[in-house]
Amino acid sequence: MNKIVIAIDGYSGCGKSSTAKEVARQLGYIYIDSGAMYRAAALHFLNEGLSLSNPKDVAKGLSTLEITFQTNPSTLRQETFLNGKNVEEEIRTMRVSERVSEVARIKEIRQAMVAQQQELGKNKGVVMDGRDIASVVFPDAALKIFMTADVDTRANRRQLELRQKGEEVNVEEIKLNLVERDLMDSSRVESPLIKVADAIEIDTTSLSFEQQVGKIIAHAQKVMFN
Ligand code: C5P
Repeated sequence: MNKIVIAIDGYSGCGKSSTAKEVARQLGYIYIDSGAMYRAAALHFLNEGLSLSNPKDVAKGLSTLEITFQTNPSTLRQETFLNGKNVEEEIRTMRVSERVSEVARIKEIRQAMVAQQQELGKNKGVVMDGRDIASVVFPDAALKIFMTADVDTRANRRQLELRQKGEEVNVEEIKLNLVERDLMDSSRVESPLIKVADAIEIDTTSLSFEQQVGKIIAHAQKVMFN
């Protein structure tokens, strides 16, 4: 059977990553969380105190940035590494969420991330989620999904996720962060978040996790067997 690329884009906190991960698992595909790469880049710039408005700092940040993924042998979970250090937990904190979209606006940073993403997905058999996957990274993807959900539902889900990791954050603060990121991601000049014409929209507001995974698998099977 032909392996395909599945591109999943959408607003912040729609459940793209968890859904994409499960779709990849069921199909035996590789999963790539492109948001984790922008988060790791943001953490690097924050840790190094580099200015995004200074081109020299941006170049320095990129030249000292190495993002890799490794599967944890005990949990089988894919984890993100920044310059060899496991940052999987740290990149999901509010400190990073609050700064990531500023970092993701910078052209040079996007070019570096996109080049790595295209390399990771070049053999197909990949599910990648993000904001510009169908529009920029894999414009020829055989299946393009655009996920949406009501913002209150997204904020509540994110609060639960953070709570499970021991971070207690007010739901209004989370909602504000989601709205701000959506606005920055949709209105930026470089590769804004858009729904491409051939994307299939899935509103997950009233769908269970299993239902949203099932819908994407059904679309994938349709594409693969056609
Ligand atoms: O997917 P996640 O919410 O973890 O992404 C974090 C941020 O990274 C987004 O709000 C967006 O600013 C940026 N991003 C992006 N392009 C992608 C993936 C993420 O600009 N393909």
